[in-house]
Amino acid sequence: MLVCNDHVLKGIKLLDVPHIHKAPTGVTCSFCTKNAVLKLYYAHTPFSLGDLKKEA
Ligand SMILES: [Zn+2]
Repeated sequence: MLVCNDHVLKGIKLLDVPHIHKAPTGVTCSFCTKNAVLKLYYAHTPFSLGDLKKEA
């Protein structure tokens, strides 16, 4: 998710524990049409179906 200065807090509230990176230049906010300043995203945690089956 890309956010401008006005929507940083909104993005952080929507995503529970986001990671924050500087947005690449030339991209726009996910909420409005301003230039995005930050990129919010979830961490990609290691995940495998094999582990789920073992616990089930
Ligand atoms: Zn915005």
